[in-house]
Order: sequence, then C-alpha cells, then structure tokens
Amino acid sequence: MMSELSLRIPGIAGHTFAVLGLGRSGAATAEALIGSGAHVLAWDDSETARAAAPADILFDLKNADWANIEALLISPGIPTTFPVPHPVAAAAREAGKPIISDIEMLVRAQPQARFVCITGTNGKSTTTTLIAHVLKAAGRRVEVGGNLGQAALSLAPVGHDGIYVLELSSYQIDITPSPIADVAILLNITPDHLDRHGGMDGYIASKQKILVPKGKSSLGIVGMDDAPSRATFAAFKDKGRRLVPISAEKKVENGVHVTADGQLVDAIKDAPRNIIDLNTIAALPGKHNWQNAAAAYVACKALGLSSDEIILGFQSYPGLAHRQELVATLNGIRYINDSKATNADAAEKALACYDNIYWILGGKPKDGGLTGLEPYYSKIRHGFLIGEAAIAFTKQINRAFPTTMSGTLEKAVADSHALAQREKKPGAVVLLSPACASFDQYPNFEIRGNRFRTLVEDLAGKKGAA
Ligand code: ADP
Repeated sequence: MMSELSLRIPGIAGHTFAVLGLGRSGAATAEALIGSGAHVLAWDDSETARAAAPADILFDLKNADWANIEALLISPGIPTTFPVPHPVAAAAREAGKPIISDIEMLVRAQPQARFVCITGTNGKSTTTTLIAHVLKAAGRRVEVGGNLGQAALSLAPVGHDGIYVLELSSYQIDITPSPIADVAILLNITPDHLDRHGGMDGYIASKQKILVPKGKSSLGIVGMDDAPSRATFAAFKDKGRRLVPISAEKKVENGVHVTADGQLVDAIKDAPRNIIDLNTIAALPGKHNWQNAAAAYVACKALGLSSDEIILGFQSYPGLAHRQELVATLNGIRYINDSKATNADAAEKALACYDNIYWILGGKPKDGGLTGLEPYYSKIRHGFLIGEAAIAFTKQINRAFPTTMSGTLEKAVADSHALAQREKKPGAVVLLSPACASFDQYPNFEIRGNRFRTLVEDLAGKKGAA
C-alpha cells in the first residue's frame, strides 16, 4: 500500500510505462509508478505471478503499442540480450524505448540521496549488510536493499542526509544506464552466470559499468585480488572517478589492505595505520570476509564516519544467516551453518577457516564436484555425506579422510554431533558447508540451513549446554 512513507517519482504523472516481470521488484515497481500518477501496463509470463497482481494493470505486452509507452521496466531475471532477448524486450528496443531497472527509477525518485552500490561475484550481501549496519550504528539514515532484501522501489524515502545501500547484480547494472553510485564497490570478478552475458568479457563489462563516474566526488572501491578486477582498476583509474584499491592478499598503494594475520591497514592518504585486528570480529571469519571488511571500511570513511565509529559497527555486526553462521557452541564445539555454500569454491572459504572439521556435505552436485578442495582434506576429521552427491563424493574423496553415508541432514547432524562430542578435539567444528545445491532434498539453501539450525538447537536444548 502507498503511504506517506512511499516513494514518489517526479515527472511521470500521466505517462505510461510497461512493467515486465511481477515478482518482488516488479510488483513494487508497478505500485510506485501508479502511486506517482503513471499508467502501468504489466505482464508476467507466469500465470501464478499474474494472479497475484491487481487485475486492472495486467496487459499482455506482446500486443503493446510502444508508441504510447515511455519505457520498459524489466525484472533483472529476464534476459534483454543473451542468450536470447525476451520478445517484449526485443520489441521495446526495436521501438527505441529505454529498457530500465527499478534502481534507475529509485535514483530519479531520490536524487538528493547518496547511493552506495555494491557488486562482485561474491561477498555482495555481506558487504552490503555490513555497510548498512555500520552506518546505522553511527546514527545515519539508511535504507538497504536491491538484489538482497527489499526491492528498490519499496524502500522508504531517506531525505537529504539519507543513504541508500544497494546490492546490485550484474543483471541489474546492465539495465541501469545512468551512473548512479556516489560510492561504487567492485569486490571481485570470477566466472559466473556467463550464459546471460555472452561470455566472460560481457560479464566483466557489466560489472565495470558500476565505476562509470557520476560526478567529481564519486568514489570507486576496487578489489585487487583477481586479474579481471585489477585490469578494471587500471582501465578506470584516470576516468574521472577517484579509485581506492583494497586487498586481503597484499599491500596496495594508496589503499586499504589486510595483512596475513588479519590487521586492517589504512594507507589511503597518510602513512599506513593499523585500524583493527579482524580476528576479533567473529561475524567476519576468513580472508574472503576481510576483503568485504576492507571495502566496507573505505565506503564508511568516504561517507564521513570516523575509524572508531566503523570499529564499533564491525564489532556489533551480527553476520548473515547461512554464511558461516555460528548456530551454537556445545561443550566447546562450534556448530556452523554455511548452507549458502552451494559449490566447491564457496565451501573452500569455510574449510579454510577451521581445523578438526566434522564436515556435512552433499546435495545436488555441481560440475567438478569437490575438485579444488583437496588441500583442505588434512583438516577434516570426518565427512558426513547427504543427498544425491553422496556416492560420487565418497568416490572422489577416495579415503583421504573417513566418511559416513548419512543420507539425510537429520542423520548427518546426529552422526557428526555424536562423533565430535566423543572425540572433543580442540577448536572442533561441525560444519554444514555442502558444496552442492539443495534442490534434491530442499526447495532452497535457506530452508536447508534453517533445518540445520533447528536440529542443532534441538541438540542444544537436550544438552542444556552453552
Ligand atoms: P553474494 O551476495 O555475492 O552471493 P554473500 O555475501 O552472500 O555473497 O556470500 C556468499 C558466499 O560467498 C559466502 O558464504 C562465502 O563463501 C563467499 N564469499 C563471501 N565474501 C567473499 C569474497 N569477498 N570473496 C570470495 N568469496 C566470498
């Protein structure tokens, strides 16, 4: 429902917009356009999505007369170019109409606000929520959303001093033609979703667009820990947006890096200064999170926070569910929910953080299975296999560490708990980091992770342990 607190997009009353895709972001887009006095013709190829939308805005856009339509607002899930453009997107382009995102409209609605935009292959949600948390803890007016959480046009207006912290996928960047970020963060680039971008070059080009300068004072923060991101830094260095390099691997000139033992070092302007020992921040374990912390530090500094305010914000950051989430500690053994690790790369990040690991893995396997994780096998006390991948993974592990065919998550939690509590190894963890999608046994990784949490909480209840 529109209310006093809803966004108004100026200058569009009486104009007609097409909205394709009526999921979370499309529904909010239609509502904000209507609330701003525009006419909306909306469609979704799914009957279920159409049934949930107000009937009076539905119009099959295949039959649209584009002459009377100002622009096509499209959901980021719908292809506009690769592999094949959606026919409605093709028709809009043919008619010379802009194809844009809800993010573009949010900037039109709130031009006075500052925008922090975060992209990268990995770490977007962590960095986005960390920045929003630190800013809020320091008393700033902040709204957070985009690719994570709330859709852009369902966010509240923020007034003159307000800040939008937006997670952007490469799809969203593709359909946001204006340079919108006052502070733009590109964390990292590794191969992902290549089908939708016509290969790696297209994917890199999408991510890079976030760095196109918005104005003289716009800042870019670029991770220097992979080759495509380093090349991006070099390419955009003198293009008008001031760039600050960050690294969790090595020193970077005039930037922020994290040392091998976890010290975050600020060398942006002056002589290098140690700011914080990141080992003390439990919700940001591992080098990958140190990259996210470095990015968040630079962004918050640029928005005027002091180092002390940022440190306090880091210390109270609760972390995100399903990403190395500490669920319980029972008799000194930690139980960690890393259900978001749906491939070997993500599981590697968690395995790197612990020793004496009782590892619950399996599900619907990805290409390559566990390839690349071999260097961590010596840290694993025992593997507990679940789901479709169980037999293939057992073969791939090839007795490098002992395994049990648990089959289900319920059995795996019981099995791993029994063994870990019996062995009582120092620093031991029971870790759900499946290196697999969940779809063979669960609708999504969140439900899988929630089930793990419930099972562990039941154990905690039984034990009465802390
Ligand atoms: P995204 O929103 O980009 O998917 P998340 O913050 O949700 O990223 O983190 C997802 C997973 O990616 C984490 O569980 C972790 O394994 C890994 N990850 C997080 N940050 C980074 C990073 N900076 N570099 C590489 N991997 C990361």
